[in-house]
Amino acid sequence: MSIRCPICLDAFGGTCEELPRISQATALNCDQCGRFSVSGSLLATEAFNAMSEPLRAALSHRLRLAQNQSEFPVLTTTSFQDFLDSWKLTTPAEQIRNLIEIIGDHLVQTGVRLPRLTPAHCARIGSVNIQRIRQILDDAETGGWIRYRIHSGGVDRLDLTLTGWNEYEANKVGLRPGNYGFIAMKFGDPILEELCRDVIKPKLKAALNIDVVDLRDVSRAGVIDNLMREQIREAGFVLVDLTHDNYGAYWEAGYAEGLGKPVIYLCEQSKFDEFKTHFDTNHLTTVTWDRSDDEAFIAQLTATLKRSLGLFA
Ligand SMILES: [Zn+2]
Repeated sequence: MSIRCPICLDAFGGTCEELPRISQATALNCDQCGRFSVSGSLLATEAFNAMSEPLRAALSHRLRLAQNQSEFPVLTTTSFQDFLDSWKLTTPAEQIRNLIEIIGDHLVQTGVRLPRLTPAHCARIGSVNIQRIRQILDDAETGGWIRYRIHSGGVDRLDLTLTGWNEYEANKVGLRPGNYGFIAMKFGDPILEELCRDVIKPKLKAALNIDVVDLRDVSRAGVIDNLMREQIREAGFVLVDLTHDNYGAYWEAGYAEGLGKPVIYLCEQSKFDEFKTHFDTNHLTTVTWDRSDDEAFIAQLTATLKRSLGLFA
């Protein structure tokens, strides 16, 4: 059954289908936001129903970006509150990069120009409404990155210029932060594994709504070195634990530094106090951890990440 999407209100002219309920929650498939579920208690709250247009656009954008992750996005009063605490609008520069990526991906995958912008594309760009999309198209054309045709029914035949292709490729090789972090560390050390699993991943997710992945979260069939390179290239930042002076972790740090990624080094407190880390890295941003005080470690790591990524400034 078609309903009006409670998030985007079908702002870019799509439709929204109700799917079979998932454990008491309403499940929806929206042309703009993608697939997600909303709990009944959240649907009944004033804060949810009275969202402003920018807030709706930001949430729709976030849901759209979450579509390619393994988890089906679930909106509850808790996850919605996390969103309210951390949301921000996509900047015009980011919107233009998103537009270039959409057009470039389509051309690379199909060999032909993008026929038109769908509601899903509009959500991925991150603009507040259709007027802003028009402005972004205009700015991207004036900037010399894209070409398109305007007619009474809208815009079509979207294409990249040579300058646009250069920008597209620069973004693809990792000059642009993605929405997750990669952690490089020694595997098999129980203390470090526990820190990663019980503290770093859940706490950064709760504080910043950022997923932190390690190689094992993404390992699929294929050459592991290539997968790791891809994960680092696409990551928004890289955490590197140097407690064990792991060669692999140093290599991954160097690769990420070379790509211009924000790299934050981690080290167990007593090891850092006694031996420091390798001389090439010991003057770089290092957050030390001590399992007797996880709170202090996470507070410092969160603050460091916010500074490095310019988050919610
Ligand atoms: Zn929607």
